[in-house]
Amino acid sequence: MTSASLCAPLKPGSTIGILGGGQLGRMLAQAAARLGLHAHIYCPNPQAPAFEVSSTRTIAQFDDRKALQKFARSVDVVTFEFENIPLMAADLVAEQVPLYPNRKALEISQDRGVEKAFIEQLGLHVADWWAIDSADDLTDALTQCAAPGLLKTRRLGYDGKGQIPLDQNDDAGQAFAQIGEQPAVLEKKINFEREISVVLVRGSQDQVNCYDLPHNLHNNGILFSSTVPSGLPAELEQQAKDAAMKIAAALDYKGVLAVEFFVAGDANAPKLIVNEFAPRVHNSGHWTLDACTCDQFENHVRAVAGWPLGATTRHSNAQMTNLLGAQVLDWFELAKHADMALHFYGKAGSKAGRKLGHMTKISPIAAKIQTI
Ligand code: AMP
Repeated sequence: MTSASLCAPLKPGSTIGILGGGQLGRMLAQAAARLGLHAHIYCPNPQAPAFEVSSTRTIAQFDDRKALQKFARSVDVVTFEFENIPLMAADLVAEQVPLYPNRKALEISQDRGVEKAFIEQLGLHVADWWAIDSADDLTDALTQCAAPGLLKTRRLGYDGKGQIPLDQNDDAGQAFAQIGEQPAVLEKKINFEREISVVLVRGSQDQVNCYDLPHNLHNNGILFSSTVPSGLPAELEQQAKDAAMKIAAALDYKGVLAVEFFVAGDANAPKLIVNEFAPRVHNSGHWTLDACTCDQFENHVRAVAGWPLGATTRHSNAQMTNLLGAQVLDWFELAKHADMALHFYGKAGSKAGRKLGHMTKISPIAAKIQTI
């Protein structure tokens, strides 16, 4: 038994503390409420969408030690909805109450360089990459890469933010200045056939359930849609699941973990390349809300509360599309599609590119007729 599996299950009526109050926190709080658990959301933003659906809120910064300690004292377990929670905040709450996923998962995922080295050390593939700490490093790396690449900040990048596409002849000094001269990685651009992700849940006694894999399309680095089934051969999907389970085991992980992959190579010899992992519920798993026996949010809550995991079985084919910015203004037109499950996050405004909701088209899988 690992340390992660020793806690007694939380009884209904217990409180799950969630660091972060965005849409992921909101959907986690809704899942907790369905199971008779309370959610206490900690978020600096007074307009956080998760506050609307949680029983308790703390509005405070992530460096407010007093507020963090008070929050930790009021809950039975703590989880988080984004991976850029300062480690100091995670450590402080973990002194008083269990934190799942654990610090190791959080720390590794916060730095692209550390994350890539960790994944490689497990024998899995990542895109060729170089650590960049200066414009000279970048000049050398571009020469070695000898192909189009992407310069990414090591920290705080998401949805394509903090990334610059570069060619061998581009000005390294200018590019490094553009990302604020902060530690970065240069990654070789992968000519991928498609992108997929594994969303899995790992619970007590190290039980792991994987959802079916979505085929993910991105626009400008932001997820556009996730379609299930992915259309990939079952053996390749299994390889991706095995790789994701290897990462989860190496992290002694508890909760939902998402691992994003590029499928590269040719059709006869496809190669899986890990892009990154997220130690939390994930946008490419939103379709599970409407197409699975137990969705990713409920399974995350079950895992961190020490409950038995729910089935990840899919009862429908699904296509989830994100609703960004002004798209939500068409809410009435969107609501006319009766086969579409609509989710709005209750965020104020309609800033371009901001994730404000999603919709999932559902096509139930016909049940096999049993002959007597
Ligand atoms: P990231 O924030 O690193 O997940 O990147 C966002 C999206 O940018 C990915 O989902 C891909 O569509 C694209 N991307 C990132 N890295 C690479 C790469 N090395 N090669 C090709 N496309 C990439």
